[in-house]
Amino acid sequence: MSRSPRPELIDADRRRLLGGAAGALLLSVLPVGARAAAPTVVAVRMWPADAYTRVTLESDAPLTFKQFLLKNPDRLVVDLEGVELNSELQSLAGKLTADDPYIQQLRAGRFKPGVVRVVIDLKTEIKPQVFTLPPVGEYRNRLVIDLYPAVQNDPLLAFLDEQQTSASAPAVAAAPTPTPASGKPQVVERSDLKVDRLVTVVLDPGHGGEDPGAVGPGGNREKTVVLQIANRLKALLEKEPNIRVVMTRDGDYFVPLGTRVRKARAAKADLFVSLHADAFTRPDANGSSVFALSERGATSTAAKWLAQTQNDADLIGGVKIDTKDIHLARTLMDLTQTATINDSLKLGKVMLGELGNINRLHKAQVEQAGFAVLKAPDIPSVLVETAFISNPSEERKLISDDYQQQMANALHQGIKRYFAANPPAPRTKVARG
Ligand SMILES: [Zn+2]
Repeated sequence: MSRSPRPELIDADRRRLLGGAAGALLLSVLPVGARAAAPTVVAVRMWPADAYTRVTLESDAPLTFKQFLLKNPDRLVVDLEGVELNSELQSLAGKLTADDPYIQQLRAGRFKPGVVRVVIDLKTEIKPQVFTLPPVGEYRNRLVIDLYPAVQNDPLLAFLDEQQTSASAPAVAAAPTPTPASGKPQVVERSDLKVDRLVTVVLDPGHGGEDPGAVGPGGNREKTVVLQIANRLKALLEKEPNIRVVMTRDGDYFVPLGTRVRKARAAKADLFVSLHADAFTRPDANGSSVFALSERGATSTAAKWLAQTQNDADLIGGVKIDTKDIHLARTLMDLTQTATINDSLKLGKVMLGELGNINRLHKAQVEQAGFAVLKAPDIPSVLVETAFISNPSEERKLISDDYQQQMANALHQGIKRYFAANPPAPRTKVARG
């Protein structure tokens, strides 16, 4: 994520200004009465992943489209109206990789005057989601073609699909008994509680796919380094006999914030750790930070701003807004989270202690702000800013095997120490949806 006052927006504004000037220039040489320029596709990108493959067409004005599926063989056709075939569109076929799980081949061709037809030959039956996104950040208008498998092969995603179709009411009604943070003395010491079950840690590498997160001066992307650190941490945690790890993403693809939270709940997570790399306009900003959710108000303006930019990830990565998702998000936000936040703060404090051994701390305390990704009402959740990727020397650390492993070790120790001091309640007492 980024603490800067949106350099990407400044760039976009600058680009828009340039575009405007170029447009004016162009208009001045066109004959009177010539119609406004048709949208031009300026970039095409593909993001193949097991969960879904995304094809993005970026254009200088909104695209109008029609879509339909054809059988024997399975293919998806998207007609782009009022568009001329150009080299960008023609480059689409060359962007396909052989290991794409869903696409056999694809091509764009002139279908009839003013209509470009994109034909996607499919390896398997898919459920397409085709939608447009308005300009945001460094991106201009985008047409997004998401290809989801018709039959979900990821059990966790299959479960989520089922939840979504079977009930309009989200499965958050059965909130667990919160752990009393203070108040009545307990008869049983917490440390006496035997954890005789697997505990589930959900690791959430931030950003992904179309959303690069912050980009360092050397061009390294937040989405890449946090996934590498998450993989290292996963390997360490999985050596523990009683820890199971679930990743919200295991490749370079975009996952909406609400889906990250839902995955954690579907996995019955005992802990949720979101991994990020920080950015600021001043290149000397440095250090690691840990954030927990705040119920009301952020602890600092910077934290509030950070939460805002983080929550904007859905605008950048692009998500087809589902009304059930909105309903779920609201319900999650409305639930009382005091007990969970207290646990999150404990986890954050332990982690800061460990991080202090390997890097300077940006802030000595756990900060709090309204991060959407930390809003599971019943799962202690923290967001770790591993270092500032905008700082040249921290960027070098973030891409080094050494620092990545030190970071993974520190987070591993933090998680172990947290569980030792706060053993998760036996599963039988917790009825989660
Ligand atoms: Zn981030």
